Amino acid sequence: MIIQDKEFGEVIVRKNSLMRGGVRFTVSTSGRLAMSVPTYTSEFLAKRFLNSNREAIRTKLPIRNPDEQRARDYQKKILIKKAKEYLPYRLEYYAKLYGYSYEKCRLTHAGTRWGSCSSNRTISLNIGLMKVPEVLRDYVILHELAHLNHMDHSKDFWAEVSLHDKNYKIHEKKLKMFSPGL
Ligand SMILES: [Zn+2]
Repeated sequence: MIIQDKEFGEVIVRKNSLMRGGVRFTVSTSGRLAMSVPTYTSEFLAKRFLNSNREAIRTKLPIRNPDEQRARDYQKKILIKKAKEYLPYRLEYYAKLYGYSYEKCRLTHAGTRWGSCSSNRTISLNIGLMKVPEVLRDYVILHELAHLNHMDHSKDFWAEVSLHDKNYKIHEKKLKMFSPGL
């Protein structure tokens, strides 16, 4: 359930069967206020919880105002669009260039991982890659492609990565200065 609030913008209401009375306020990754309430909570009751905690929320939680929330949504949409137009093709390009074959390319935007490669040869790439320098983006792609042959971070794996990216150690380190979150 989503509540529209004049001060906080969209408020995400999560019903939680483990909550026994009371309510818990947190901030979602989009900067929106989120509240966990017991499952029986009606919209009316949720609004009442919100009103009676307004002061505490205001002073304790880093809520983005509705304008900022909208701006962030917009940026995210653009990033997703860019990622769709770029990442699958870049992956395909390097796969062809170095003779890898994968099953599928999946774009993700949750979590803390830049990419992953599953045993069914699906390569997942984080949309957040569109925010990092191209050389680091390419490194992640080459890293995941190398996982098609080595599903671990063994010596052999790194040897394969270094075939296509001599500076992989530097790139791995630089990547840590960025976060995949949008
Ligand atoms: Zn890896």
